[in-house]
Amino acid sequence: MLQYRVLASTGMQVSRLCFGALTISPLQANLPLAEGAHIIRTALEAGVNFIDTAELYNNYHYLREAIRGYQGEVIIASKCYAYTSRGMQDSLELALRELDRDYIDIFMLHETESILTIRGHWEAIEFLLQAKQKGLVRAIGISTHNVEGVLGAASVPEIEVIQPLINMTGIGIKGGNTQDMLAAIQTAAKAGKGLYGMKALGGGHLLARPEEAFAFILSIPELASVAVGMSTKEEVVYNTCHFSGQPVPEKVKAKVRRQPRRLLIEDCEGCGKCLSHCSSGALRLDEGKAVVDHSLCTLCGYCSRACPEFCIKVI
Ligand code: SF4
Ligand code: SF4
Repeated sequence: MLQYRVLASTGMQVSRLCFGALTISPLQANLPLAEGAHIIRTALEAGVNFIDTAELYNNYHYLREAIRGYQGEVIIASKCYAYTSRGMQDSLELALRELDRDYIDIFMLHETESILTIRGHWEAIEFLLQAKQKGLVRAIGISTHNVEGVLGAASVPEIEVIQPLINMTGIGIKGGNTQDMLAAIQTAAKAGKGLYGMKALGGGHLLARPEEAFAFILSIPELASVAVGMSTKEEVVYNTCHFSGQPVPEKVKAKVRRQPRRLLIEDCEGCGKCLSHCSSGALRLDEGKAVVDHSLCTLCGYCSRACPEFCIKVI
């Protein structure tokens, strides 16, 4: 059985395993709608009650289909880059409309770098505070790859939820290493923030060592939940077994992909547009072609959306 934990002051009781919805979306596996929705629904029926998504992932329609007619509780966290009141209003209305919901449980700023990002987006946060008073949002948060993002959010009373990037090798962590991020997470928890992790498997780099990677992240007491990307039914079974301390059936193990994924750039025309969409600093131009530093790439797929020539894929 999956376990549940309270997400600090929000009072929301979330499953330890959160469905990371990036993986099914057009940025990554780009599953047909019915298939992606079915995989989410499989996770819900296995006890997962928490879904993490983002406006950038362009996948609200999968979630809407997955939860249609579902009787159990579903807690949805989404995020966007808005920095104005109007921008946040548009993002929230889009989420409400496309998810066909009356409220969003957790709405966050996406890829917050530090306290300066939070200050720069304050108008958008003020809009969320008003939306919360109207019952359109239950809690406000930030997601971040940066140690300073966690520490900055920890100091802001209005922010209740923080989603930090954390994994055992530190891949993707900005402004420090795994130990620095763990210390920031502890600081945020002491400040009363609800925390749930992301990129436990390093965006796919740690697929060959999942037991170790999951054991590490599940040992962090401050994390109520961990968002893990899943794009097949076997991955849902595999992850729910891991998170509930059950042995993984051999036939499921055999079907779950263990090979690390990687970013493939083909037929690049060298326009450079993808470079500014990589907050990990993993892309550069070399002799007129985009080149990835695989040691820095978290396989988020965000750069693929920026390429007008559709040259970038996560495979
Ligand atoms: S190179 Fe692309 S997939 Fe890799 S971290 Fe940067 S934006 Fe994400
Ligand atoms: S956006 Fe596409 S075409 Fe432009 S540099 Fe990046 S990969 Fe190459």
